[in-house]
Amino acid sequence: MAEKHFREIWKKTNGHCHFCGDPISLRKRGYRRQRADGCWEVDHVTQRAKGGATSIENCLPACTSCNRLRWHRKGAELREMLLLGMIAKREMDRFTETGNRLIALHHQQSRQNKRRRTGAPLRGAKTFDPVLQATIRKKERDILVCFLRTYPKQAFSPRQLSKRTGVPKSRIRRVLETARKVAVLHHGTRYEFQIRSPKRNRSRSQSGTLGEKVRGLPSEFAR
Ligand SMILES: [Zn+2]
Repeated sequence: MAEKHFREIWKKTNGHCHFCGDPISLRKRGYRRQRADGCWEVDHVTQRAKGGATSIENCLPACTSCNRLRWHRKGAELREMLLLGMIAKREMDRFTETGNRLIALHHQQSRQNKRRRTGAPLRGAKTFDPVLQATIRKKERDILVCFLRTYPKQAFSPRQLSKRTGVPKSRIRRVLETARKVAVLHHGTRYEFQIRSPKRNRSRSQSGTLGEKVRGLPSEFAR
């Protein structure tokens, strides 16, 4: 498949993962990192093993993490997993007994996946408490969302957010579960906040969209 075909597939969703809707970066196709930072792969809607065509009509862009989680699943099985996931997430957010057990299992599974894919040895097994970490993350998230709600039309860099809220800069993206944007409900209206672009792009972002509600792609994903 030629580069222009990849661009066509990428354009189908205007540069977003067709599962989760997160922005994906055209030039990060095939990157193997499973983080929400724009890496993506071509997803065959009907799998090739099941007679799906290799033509562009059968292809959609999916971020690497979504594509790896989906495997061969589709239809009813995929919906069942979403429902189960919702139930699990609710328990985990409330830190119920079941929820805490799920947090531990989630942690265990992620470590196993990582080891399987990268061959990296497991570290920090004895000192890491996943439930405690999840509690801290939730607290930090509450603080950040509360702060962002107070300034419904502004964009902040991770550094500014860290300075104003006391949440460590390195953890902000992780806590907000986002690569670039965060959505917050404010008086019944949904606002999307942009985390300001890194320094090299700052002049560009200051000129236009900064501080506005963000729709569509942040500028650096469009290239
Ligand atoms: Zn995705």
